[in-house]
Amino acid sequence: MVFGTVQHKFPHSAGIARKHLQALRRRDFVAGAAFVDGRWIAGDRRDVVIDPATGEEIADVARCDAEDADRAIAAAERSFSVWRQLLPIRRGAILGSWASLMREHSEELAILVTSEQGKPLAEARYEIAYGAAFLDWFAAEGERTYGETIPSHKPGSLLHVRMQPIGVAAAITPWNFPVAMIARKAGAALAAGCPVIVKPAPETPLSALALARLAEQAGIPPGVFQVLVGDPIELSAPLLRDTRVRALSFTGSTQVGRLLLQGTADTVKKVSLELGGHAPFLVFDDVELDKAVKGAVAAKFATSGQDCLAANRIYVQRGIYAAFVEAFAAAMGQLKVGHGLEPATDIGPMTKLSVANKCRAQIDDAAAKGGRVISAKMEPSLGENFVLPALLSDVTEDMLICREETFGPVAAVLPFDSEEEVLARANASEMGLAAYVYTDSLRRALRLSEQMEYGMVGVNTASFTGPPIPFGGWKQSGLGREGSRHGIHEYMEMKYVCFGDLPA
Ligand code: NAD
Repeated sequence: MVFGTVQHKFPHSAGIARKHLQALRRRDFVAGAAFVDGRWIAGDRRDVVIDPATGEEIADVARCDAEDADRAIAAAERSFSVWRQLLPIRRGAILGSWASLMREHSEELAILVTSEQGKPLAEARYEIAYGAAFLDWFAAEGERTYGETIPSHKPGSLLHVRMQPIGVAAAITPWNFPVAMIARKAGAALAAGCPVIVKPAPETPLSALALARLAEQAGIPPGVFQVLVGDPIELSAPLLRDTRVRALSFTGSTQVGRLLLQGTADTVKKVSLELGGHAPFLVFDDVELDKAVKGAVAAKFATSGQDCLAANRIYVQRGIYAAFVEAFAAAMGQLKVGHGLEPATDIGPMTKLSVANKCRAQIDDAAAKGGRVISAKMEPSLGENFVLPALLSDVTEDMLICREETFGPVAAVLPFDSEEEVLARANASEMGLAAYVYTDSLRRALRLSEQMEYGMVGVNTASFTGPPIPFGGWKQSGLGREGSRHGIHEYMEMKYVCFGDLPA
């Protein structure tokens, strides 16, 4: 089946990102200097930044090396003694200024995100607001890191617990949310009293460096927030082996998460990991079909599918399966594919060619194993990073798409018969990040939300993230939580103090 049209072709959008970047008022956002120890490092060694939609070079940035990483760690360690001494309310005020600056420069930050990451501009704008909201959240949370007093088991003693900042933190961040993932980690670390060294994905350095410009402007002292850009392995090695780095937070693939976990073993760091997902999306036959289709389309195609919360297996009860597939294909057909800087675009390019190729391999594998592929025809002139939205029906569990995370706009729809059966199939994954349930039965919703082995469950909604919720996964989807009242504790140590021999 062929649906929809490709809105803009590769030649049409050539030069568009460069034009937008040249028009930015904040020229420093595209200067491409790394930020170490309060200084901007330009350097001769430069890496290029690519517009993933067109493959064009749009900027270049300094390439940091292991020595820069060592200097960053030393600067962070020095700054810790000053930053941790500030009252939480004072740190919160600085974080609040940073958030305000993000909002003030939202449009320019969004252009950077779209230019280097590819997502539609409207989604990039949302990301800036989402990221700034985490800074505001943690600005306030820093004042609530309460300890406790424990009823004593020893006569004449006072037992209490206090929370203290852990020390220098490192954050290795992904390219799919190049602003928000930095804000979510740095907001928590800084509010706790910890300096943070960010190593962003090499595909999206501009967003990270622009955040550093705003951090400096907001009054974050030198060494407290630093950004190292360059080769991931070269830069992460010193961060992993240095004993002064006490916490590591990572968002990305499970494969790299495992490597980093192994890499922190020698120095026993506190580690939080937000890794891959493989979200099951369950649709029961008692729901209003339109609502479920709308939810599934949102849960599949947001961020062009490059989202760890993306619905990877859409299970639909057999009685409504055919109607669901038809309605989903029709809704999918309305999505406009093109350059993210073009106003009507819903689906941009994949940020990395490897992700686009993985999507194509999953489509081919499903077709070879008897799945039905519903998609538009690929325009040859569209860049190779584009994947047109596709629906795979009659999917079976042995297909690649059911075993590995897709991370692109390809939807797998599978029929099921009973609640018991679909629960077992949904839980039969080593991933455990997010799951969705659409049903009109309150009893069923309660049962399933209890029994699903996932860190986050959306019941009759595809939209549930934000600063107040504990974001994180079970099983191989990660360790620890971000956001909420729990996120700040990834950057804190608990200290128990016993005062003995007190006067009666
Ligand atoms: P990745 O895990 O390789 O990259 C994420 C971050 O890790 C980037 O900053 C990268 O530079 C860094 N990194 C990569 N290799 C490293 C290493 N050996 N040591 C230290 N740092 C390293 O992710 P990817 O290859 O770009 O994407 C592949 C898949 O990962 C995607 O298809 C998706 O399944 C998953 N992913 C998930 C998320 C998420 O939000 N959970 C984000 C990005 C990617």
